[in-house]
Amino acid sequence: MSTAIRGIGELVTWDDDQPIRRDAGLVIDDGRVAWVGASADTPAADEVIEADGAAVIPGFVDSHTHLVFAGDRAEEFAARMAGRRYEAGGIRTTVAATRAASTEQLAAGAEARLAELRAQGTTTVEIKSGYGLDVATEARLLEVAAALTPETTYLGAHVVPSGVDPDAYIALVTGAMLEACAPHAKWIDVFCETGAFDADQARTVLRAGQAAGLLPRIHANQLGYGPGVQLACEVGAAAADHCTYLSDADVAALAETGVVAGLLPGVEFSTRHPYPDARRLLDAGVRVAIATDCNPGTSYTSSMSFCIALAVREMGLTPTEALHAATQGGAWSLQRTDVGHLRLGARADLVVLNAPSHLHLAYRPGVPLMRQVVRAAV
Ligand SMILES: [Zn+2]
Repeated sequence: MSTAIRGIGELVTWDDDQPIRRDAGLVIDDGRVAWVGASADTPAADEVIEADGAAVIPGFVDSHTHLVFAGDRAEEFAARMAGRRYEAGGIRTTVAATRAASTEQLAAGAEARLAELRAQGTTTVEIKSGYGLDVATEARLLEVAAALTPETTYLGAHVVPSGVDPDAYIALVTGAMLEACAPHAKWIDVFCETGAFDADQARTVLRAGQAAGLLPRIHANQLGYGPGVQLACEVGAAAADHCTYLSDADVAALAETGVVAGLLPGVEFSTRHPYPDARRLLDAGVRVAIATDCNPGTSYTSSMSFCIALAVREMGLTPTEALHAATQGGAWSLQRTDVGHLRLGARADLVVLNAPSHLHLAYRPGVPLMRQVVRAAV
């Protein structure tokens, strides 16, 4: 089965020679990008999509979400907007609701949110556990996540649950819980932050995960300066996510090691915190990703376009740099070479926009611009 898309006003491939083409065509064969060129030269195919001058972009790669949970925290958001500060402990509210939910309820909620992401152009998504914080519930969350994406992350070390000794909890996270969760996870993650886990605890968690065959990533430097980014570089993490408060040494270490800085501007929007300085990171040669961090507490958005608009308006990126971070950057973060771009051989995951140019993603914030989302079945 082959599909040709003709009349593409602007095609974003991120190809080295010509990252953005005008008046282009593209052919999909067997779920892969098989041909890219001038619209007039587009080869015949089984099916034809007429883009009529619309822009085509790679599908978004959302490299950081917490899609599996129960309940919501709308009241907490309203209270925060009325002046209350966010602290890491709000996670425990969602933990109580999640533990009480059946696996079927959790799956239905996650599927509904995934459909929401897909409709808004996200074709690859990472999903974390972290609202169970006991062996059985963490394993249930990861089973639900694994049915939806190969990019699953074990985040037993999200916070220490209420009434549990921190040392005993680390032993559980790196012992019985890891054993139950590792078969359903690709990644291991830890929330390294005041109020969650310190550097030594976080290192213990990530090293245990690596020993069990999981790949490390980390929540780091969200609420203040701290050791998380340096730890990410030390253990060879794929990504350090948040990166809101970075020292010069942190920025240098990210650039040196190639650890991806995952920026989550929906969080700063929803918590009224200062935004990370994406411009500073790009100028230093750091690889940058943008993700939603879709979660009920601090960023309940599933819209990558919204995050792109924030990155442009508040974080110093150009619209093109922001789109790159939301596609190729996300693929780097997940160590995927087959998504996040539309070079020959890529998965044919793409979006036809209701717009002549990708600039409209930031230029028209809050507007549904997804005319057609194409996602390879293979
Ligand atoms: Zn997160």
